Formats: sequence, structure tokens, C-alpha cells
Amino acid sequence: MELPFAESWRIKMVEPIKKSTREEREQWMKEADYNLFQLRSEQVYIDCLTDSGTGAMSDRQWAAVMMGDESYAGSSSFFHLKETINKITGFEYVIPTHQGRAAENVLFSHLVKAGSIVPGNSHFDTTKGHIESRKATALDCTIDEAKDTQLEIPFKGNVDPKKLEKALAEHHENVPFIIVTITNNTAGGQPVSMQNLREVRAIADKYGKRVVLDSARFAENAYFIKTREEGYADKTIKEIALEMFSLADGMTMSAKKDGIVNMGGFIATRHEDWYEGAKRFCIPFEGYLTYGGMNGRDMEALAVGLDENTEFDNLETRIHQVEFLAGLLDEYGIPYQRPVGGHAIFVDADKVLTKVPKEEFPAQTLAIELYLEAGVRGCEIGYILADRDPVTRENRFGGLDLLRLCIARRVYTDNHMRVIAAALKNVFDRRNEITRGVEIVWETELMRHFTVKLRKL
Ligand SMILES: *Cc1c(COP(=O)(O)O)cnc(C)c1O
Repeated sequence: MELPFAESWRIKMVEPIKKSTREEREQWMKEADYNLFQLRSEQVYIDCLTDSGTGAMSDRQWAAVMMGDESYAGSSSFFHLKETINKITGFEYVIPTHQGRAAENVLFSHLVKAGSIVPGNSHFDTTKGHIESRKATALDCTIDEAKDTQLEIPFKGNVDPKKLEKALAEHHENVPFIIVTITNNTAGGQPVSMQNLREVRAIADKYGKRVVLDSARFAENAYFIKTREEGYADKTIKEIALEMFSLADGMTMSAKKDGIVNMGGFIATRHEDWYEGAKRFCIPFEGYLTYGGMNGRDMEALAVGLDENTEFDNLETRIHQVEFLAGLLDEYGIPYQRPVGGHAIFVDADKVLTKVPKEEFPAQTLAIELYLEAGVRGCEIGYILADRDPVTRENRFGGLDLLRLCIARRVYTDNHMRVIAAALKNVFDRRNEITRGVEIVWETELMRHFTVKLRKL
């Protein structure tokens, strides 16, 4: 008989997690004002809030921690990290930062000016924030197909070349660079094809522009290219990653994702002028050039993490687990953003809690119900996260209302996936009895989802 699929690692250290009773969870949820960010982690059984900084480091990474060189300047750990990044990306210049948004802050301080227009595919929140706070515009050129949650296409994170061409034809004088997010987080961890990166390169060259890759999940993107795009099946992940970066001029990286460290990030580029420009902002914002925002030990661990996570087996184990959970949801008929992406499942709450009016926030209601059911913490990516319209102060109900379940790297087993799926099925089975949601009793003007206080109706 054919051998079943199994993880490409075994477990050497464990961290106990605790179950709780429904009564306890009801009390805790109330004390947290029905906001899952306000829960204490020990009140959570399986935590699917985010895949950012929540991964498990390997024995090699922990060993590397002990080798950290904490010298203020010229740390050997910096050079280990730099050499690894040089090899994986082909980019010569490296600036370490404390996380991804800090890389954006440093690079954009050099490149983005008031009135700049930065086209790309569904800019991540912090990326958009760092553009808009400089009175510039993040112009979304993602393909329209990304909005249809039930459409199955292999590269749903792609840039629409026609939209990009139009953006450059109209605004090229104000475009400092194009940014492509791999994988496209906002569209559901959806990959971008090599063909699409080539098209973006061609358009950029036509207008003499440079391309930045927002690379938080570049290794997962490379995995999808290998398994879905013609001509890449026999290439290694490292060969594919190098080819992806060869089509760009620089990158910003949140190492908390595909670097599998708990904190860290960097900028890398092939252009000396970008490096010189960004350097001036690294020192005041992050720190001296050979540590940026990182400890020596963390740079060592990141160098190992980048090397390990650009190996096929590690990525196959990860993506396989996300697909395993998606398969269970298929079995139970629970609708989610299709096809499942690299790091999370986005449950289409509008299609599950059809009796809950949108004014009562179905996705948040579903997140609360899932927590009460089994202590599983997800995250609303929906109407609460969308904030109010800055002019009319009305809630924005135009987008999707999703419950995001992120899967941490190398942390949970497939049995935990079964628990998540079964808990969700139990809620799904009584979806028609859930007719009321929540109302807001207190909120901030911006990014209200972190601190919003809610009341159950
Ligand atoms: C997480 C993330 C960032 C920001 O990185 P932080 O490390 O959280 O600051 C930027 N872009 C993408 C696509 C991300 O997923």
C-alpha cells in the first residue's frame, strides 16, 4: 500500500497547551469584551490568530542562537545573515531591521514622497500605511479574479498587467517603484506566478521603473510555482527563489513569516543608490548597519531559518497541513476563499451566518462562536477591520467578511487541524440558530479591531 504523507521533522521539545470549559470561555470572552485580541494566550487552546512570529524554530536554529555575536559593529552574525541572503536572493546589499514594517519604513523614507504613486497587488496594511502616511497613494492593480472567493485559479495573487500598464502610462512621473507582494497576503495567501513577475518586469523596464518584492512569504510562493507552474516541477525551491528575485530590484522582508523567527526583518537590494539612501534612515530608526533592529543571535537564527525554509520538504509539510484542514472543511461543506492559500484559511462568514445582519458583524460573530465552541482563536478580516469611511463615518460593508484561521509553522499537528475543523463544523451545523451578532460599544478611529469593545446581542 502507498505510504501516507507525514511531516518532514520529528519533535524534540514540547510546549503544553490547556483545554478549558465552555463556561470558562464564556466568562473570558465577556471579560475580553468579545474581542479575541484581548484574550490572554493561556485562555486559548489552539491559536490561529496569526502566522507571524509564531513559528517553531528548529534545533539548528536554537544552536545558532548560541553562536550569536553581539558586537555593536561588524558582528559576524550579520555577515552570516548577509551571505545567506546574498545566496538566496542574489541581492548584494542587506540592511537588517526589527521586522517587516521597519524595513518598509526605512526603504520608503528614502523612496516615497508626498504625491508618489506606488502600484502593486493588494498592498499589505503596514505597506499601505507607510505609503499613505507619506501622503502618497497605494494603487491596487490585483487581478479582478482575486475578489471571487469561489473561483479556483492557480495564481490568484497576480498583478493585472493591463491595470499596471495603465497606472504607469498615467502616473509614471510619480511612481518611485512597483511593489509585488509574494504571496499576496490580503487576497488570502495567494501566489504570484513567475510569468506574472516577468510581465511586471517588462512593464517596469518599459517605463524605466524598479520593482520591490514584499517577500514575507516568498518561499511559500516558490513552492506554489514549483507545484503549479509549467516548467518548474524539476527546479529546486532555491533555484526558483533566485529566479523570482532576479526579476526584481530589491525586497522588504518580514522574517517572522518565511524566515521562521519570532522577530526580525530586512531590506535587500542590488542597487548601491538604494542602499546608500536607506542607510541614512536605518541608523536613526533601527540602529547601526550591522544589526539594524536585531540581536546577533536572532540574525544567526534567521540565517538558518532562511536556508531551511527554502527546502522543499519543509514547505511541503507546511502547505500540506493547510491543505489538509481545507480538505476537512470541503468534506463538511464549509465555504472558504478558494483555492486555499499558503498560510491560512479564510472562511466566508457571510455565507455561513446568513441570518446575522451585516450590521451585526457575521465574521466577528463566527470568530466568537468558534472560540466558545473549542477555544480556537481566529481573526476577523472583515467589516470591523475595514474601519469606518473617513468622510461619512459609516461602517464599510463593501468588502468581504472573512474569518481567518492562520496556521503557525511547525507548531500544531494534523490532530489539531481535526479539532479546528470539527469545532467549525459544530458551529456550522447550528448556523441557522445563530441570528444575532455583536454591536460596538467602544472603538478607535483607526485600526479599531485591535481594541474594539463589543456587546453580544
Ligand atoms: C507581515 C507582513 C508585513 C509586515 O511585517 P511585520 O513583520 O509584521 O512588521 C508586510 N507585508 C506582508 C505581506 C506581511 O505579511
